[in-house]
Amino acid sequence: MKIKDVINYLEQLAPPQYQESYDNAGLIVGDKDTKVSGVLCCLDSTEAIVAEAVEKGCNLIVAHHPIVFKGLKSLTGKNYVERTIIEAIKNDIAIYAIHTNLDNVYQNGVNQRIADSLGLNNTRILAPKKNLKRLNARIKSDEASRLQEILEKEGLDHLNLEWSMLGDWTSIALSFNYSSAEHGRILHALQEATGREVPYTSWDIRESDPNIGSGMIGELPKAISGLEFLKMVKEKMQAACIKYTDIPERKIKTVALCGGSGGFLLPYAIGARADAFVTSDYKYHEYFDADGKLLIADIGHFESEQYTIDLLQEIISRKFSNFAAYCTQVKTNPVNYLV
Ligand SMILES: [Zn+2]
Repeated sequence: MKIKDVINYLEQLAPPQYQESYDNAGLIVGDKDTKVSGVLCCLDSTEAIVAEAVEKGCNLIVAHHPIVFKGLKSLTGKNYVERTIIEAIKNDIAIYAIHTNLDNVYQNGVNQRIADSLGLNNTRILAPKKNLKRLNARIKSDEASRLQEILEKEGLDHLNLEWSMLGDWTSIALSFNYSSAEHGRILHALQEATGREVPYTSWDIRESDPNIGSGMIGELPKAISGLEFLKMVKEKMQAACIKYTDIPERKIKTVALCGGSGGFLLPYAIGARADAFVTSDYKYHEYFDADGKLLIADIGHFESEQYTIDLLQEIISRKFSNFAAYCTQVKTNPVNYLV
């Protein structure tokens, strides 16, 4: 099993096209044709993580946060980013990051894991991406099942294909909605299934895609007081401390959340009438924006995303049995609390 096999699988679940424009998810260090000896899952790649990978015999680190965001002009070891990369290269260890693409998927995503930890029901994406397209094409009836197979293989089996038989019974009309990021892969699948360039028409539609986007919202099984809610979140998310705004008088039932820096989603949380919004990295002035409309709870960036480590380990070990996938034992949280 090669590194590219692991990457292909992860990218079926969280396609790289779903990442935000500022992001740098993907293979950052290493050769994708190398055979995998073991995988170490973590939130942040650091020198300590590379050392742990060496010790555990893993030549692939799968991290949530990319170690490199911007271009490097030199590689001399003057900071932890450069030292981590140098150590990884010296030890033949690849570093792969699965970041906002994993944040932006509904299933198997960062936010679903947080919602599960908090026991939310009826979860849905808080800010679905508005980039849906629709495609119409005509293919032969016997190509239809082949297309279905290829779509499944390509991780596109969530597409809701609508078939209708045409008069001559040898061809069928096919139409479905999809996310614009999937356009290229769909055309490729059509070509692979039919062995030719299939004429098609496609156009943008205004609806948003409920399976892709930022944040999540859901309901607690029963409404609880703001203080009970904060205590529950502190325990479930193993937060050393929670920073929060004034507790509203009403009980907490609908909860919006976003792993990592989710402050930009506050208008969506308020718009969706959430009673509480759980995220991290709030700044002083931003707390004022709660404005009595809901309870903001800042639980810490690391704390909000810590279960992503288990999520990655589970995803990889469920699929691959010929090498081990580990959760890191190193706590990479750079923030400490004096309590
Ligand atoms: Zn993060």
